[in-house]
Amino acid sequence: MKVADMHCDTLAELWYTHWEGAVPSELIKNNLHIDLEKMQKGDYLLQNFAVFVNLDRKLDPLESALYQIDIFYQEMAKNSDIIRPVKAYADIEKNQKDGIISGVLSVEEGAVCKGRPEFLRILYQLGVRMMTLTWNHENELAYPNNVPTDASTVFPCGSETTMGLKEKGYLFIEEMERLGMVIDVSHLSDAGFYQILQNTKRPFAASHSNARSLCRHCRNLSDDMIQKLGNRGGVIGLNYCGSFLEEGADDQNCKSTVSRMAEHARHITNLGGMECLGLGSDFDGISHNLEMKDCSMLPLLEASLKKAGFLTSDIEKIFYRNVLNLYKEVWK
Ligand SMILES: [Zn+2]
Repeated sequence: MKVADMHCDTLAELWYTHWEGAVPSELIKNNLHIDLEKMQKGDYLLQNFAVFVNLDRKLDPLESALYQIDIFYQEMAKNSDIIRPVKAYADIEKNQKDGIISGVLSVEEGAVCKGRPEFLRILYQLGVRMMTLTWNHENELAYPNNVPTDASTVFPCGSETTMGLKEKGYLFIEEMERLGMVIDVSHLSDAGFYQILQNTKRPFAASHSNARSLCRHCRNLSDDMIQKLGNRGGVIGLNYCGSFLEEGADDQNCKSTVSRMAEHARHITNLGGMECLGLGSDFDGISHNLEMKDCSMLPLLEASLKKAGFLTSDIEKIFYRNVLNLYKEVWK
């Protein structure tokens, strides 16, 4: 079964090995969740590679993004017999015909644009086709869903229902829609989600989030959000992180199973329709007890969905068709 995955943090992991002065890890083969050899085993068709910046590290966000974008293109050039970058939907179709995996650049932390639409447009020119407005920190554009809660509760962070987009956030979503860049609401506050819903026309994505009613984590989407995102034609990427799958799982004692993923998949598609779910692994951004230990093991998830009663045509939609349709619709 072909795979299109809307989110991984592999690019940032490769970048860290550059600035730690170690021997830089490479995309062809490494000890991460994702490398090209494992992707070939997993039958990958497309992978989004997120440029990820943690503002806590006090690095220049734009400069950090540019380093990662350079690594992305260096790796694409070195391995063009296996994977090639895409900027348009036709590029994906061509790669698919030629048996080549498609690499998509995305951004996880809108602060890389420093609040300047000029930098957003430059990143678009560099190939960025999807962006989260925030990660877990407030930035120039919006507020995240990351309200500290009482440590005694099972809900590890609270949802932010009043603080959403800032003035520049509104400007950015308008410009992203004009450019044909997918707006990604993963990490964004609940208030921001509804403001995006009200102020955009095109489908958007939650690239790596699950269902909050099965696991009360602020990174997951409420039933109402799932329904509204589905009605818009948007796609939610199923996240493999144990703490977004199973309630109460902490970082140490956190299990990620494919049977639990199938339960989230059933819930999300019951609410939002069979067209609203895709994959958003979060590979290389999660470090838990994973039943699918890396990207070569996607057949485990396929088998689990089958066992849960999903038809092969449904699994195709979840594994790649819905994501491809989203890109076809939003990209120019
Ligand atoms: Zn994330």
